[in-house]
Amino acid sequence: MKIIMLGAPGAGKGTQAIMLADKYGIPHISTGDIFRSNIKAGTELGKKAKEYMDQGLLVPDELTTDLVVNRIEEEDCKNGFILDGFPRTIPQAKCLQEALKEKNDHMDFAVNVDVKAENIIKRMSGRRACPNCGATYHIESSKPKVEGICDRCGHELILRDDDKPETVKRRLEVYDDMTRPLIDFYTEEGILVSVDGSRDINVVFEDITKILEGKA
Ligand code: ADP
Ligand code: AMP
Repeated sequence: MKIIMLGAPGAGKGTQAIMLADKYGIPHISTGDIFRSNIKAGTELGKKAKEYMDQGLLVPDELTTDLVVNRIEEEDCKNGFILDGFPRTIPQAKCLQEALKEKNDHMDFAVNVDVKAENIIKRMSGRRACPNCGATYHIESSKPKVEGICDRCGHELILRDDDKPETVKRRLEVYDDMTRPLIDFYTEEGILVSVDGSRDINVVFEDITKILEGKA
């Protein structure tokens, strides 16, 4: 199964993607996580990406697309994968489509996690992230078992630099301009499904799995 998670920043894409990856045993590929680990490791890619991320802007397509196209060629992706945070622009979506077409392949679902902007701001200000495994928590709605510590890997949780209110505002504007058009793109492709992401995490998950398994 090859799945794209679509939705505004903070809609819950990563939360759902990790649960889906665990359930179906396929890799969770988050471009945001890849950039953050490059920043931590001090690579050239990390240095370039940070300039854009800190301002709430998108990292240029030429630094992003090849990264994903190469990643999905790896052995662990042969039974499927979940893309989280990619594609974020129409050119990225077209490059992904072309790369798969060359192998006579295609994405199966683009899952749009739909949440209103006012809920999103609340979610992102309370988000805590694991810089090691990419899991996300919330200080009210999705607390870790031990405060400040990741349930999955035991690493200390952080507040992301780009979750500051002024950066969040810019990221939501960038989403509207650059990423929202993907909803129409994947509707035309015939693979878009939408879920109401404003409900409880487990209810949203159940809805998504029913759709993916053709039970909805
Ligand atoms: P995204 O990957 O789309 O940016 P995340 O999965 O990181 O979003 O979720 C953003 C924040 O909202 C996190 O703090 C997460 O714990 C919380 N969250 C995710 N889904 C829900 C939900 N259905 N209800 C309440 N809070 C949620
Ligand atoms: P995320 O973890 O998905 O919220 O992404 C964090 C930041 O990484 C975004 O605000 C962008 O600056 C950058 N980023 C992640 N994925 C992409 C992408 N597909 N294209 C461009 N920039 C991206």
